[in-house]
Amino acid sequence: MPELPEVQTVVNGIKSKINKHKILRFKKYISKLRYPIQKNLSSKVESSTVTTVFRRAKYIIINLSNNRSLVIHLGMSGRIIIVKNNKKKFKHTHFSILFNKNLVIQFIDPRRFGYIFVTETASLEKHRFFVNLGVEPLIGQFNDRYLLNVTKNKKSPIKNIIMNQKYIVGVGNIYASEALFMSGIHPSRLGKDITKRDSEKLVRAIKSVLKKSIKLGGSSINDHTMVSGKMGYFQNKLYVYGREGSKCVKRSCQSPIIRIVIAQRSSFYCSECQR
Ligand SMILES: [Zn+2]
Repeated sequence: MPELPEVQTVVNGIKSKINKHKILRFKKYISKLRYPIQKNLSSKVESSTVTTVFRRAKYIIINLSNNRSLVIHLGMSGRIIIVKNNKKKFKHTHFSILFNKNLVIQFIDPRRFGYIFVTETASLEKHRFFVNLGVEPLIGQFNDRYLLNVTKNKKSPIKNIIMNQKYIVGVGNIYASEALFMSGIHPSRLGKDITKRDSEKLVRAIKSVLKKSIKLGGSSINDHTMVSGKMGYFQNKLYVYGREGSKCVKRSCQSPIIRIVIAQRSSFYCSECQR
């Protein structure tokens, strides 16, 4: 499933290509993905020009010159490819956006959990998908004070707290496990037992693991085919996730990595390094 770093990689990839380009045509090949595609979507975006492309949580947002925003979510298996013309429709392409200068975006999604919609840019933050989103992990507002404030008095495991989108967006299961290992915190530790020092370490680890993954995701991308939904090269760099029974990577430790289930999700940790 595409996570924050993969979505950021897609945004970085399409931004330089479609910025300032005019949308000539929006073409759908299906009436419903996860949600029905708005019937008037094409008339609301055609003839307008892209002003900015950015990411919020796991949404790709394309702002347009007509004060509307085109929002795309990749769902479970969504990918975006950029092609030079729309002559060839790939298997599972459900919509395409034709820009001037023969630039075409195709949205490919075998499982159809992705979605697209258009809304007024001014009311985007109040949209039902956006209104309850927490802070972005890579901005300054997400700091040790913020996290400490969120965790204090909470009787739920720290892993659940950092994965809760209403507090912080984009920290998926893999990144949560990795960041907790990097900061020496046991995934089941209760929020109320997180200290200021823990909070500092955890914030730093979350930012670091996401940045590292964005960097590596970017390197798996080439010019014409932008693929998300894959972990890029980051999957080869995991410390604990999926490594049950293997030795801890810290040379002074080498204890076996343990898997437990917290809130129905697998969590991996080192019983020596994480308390
Ligand atoms: Zn260890």
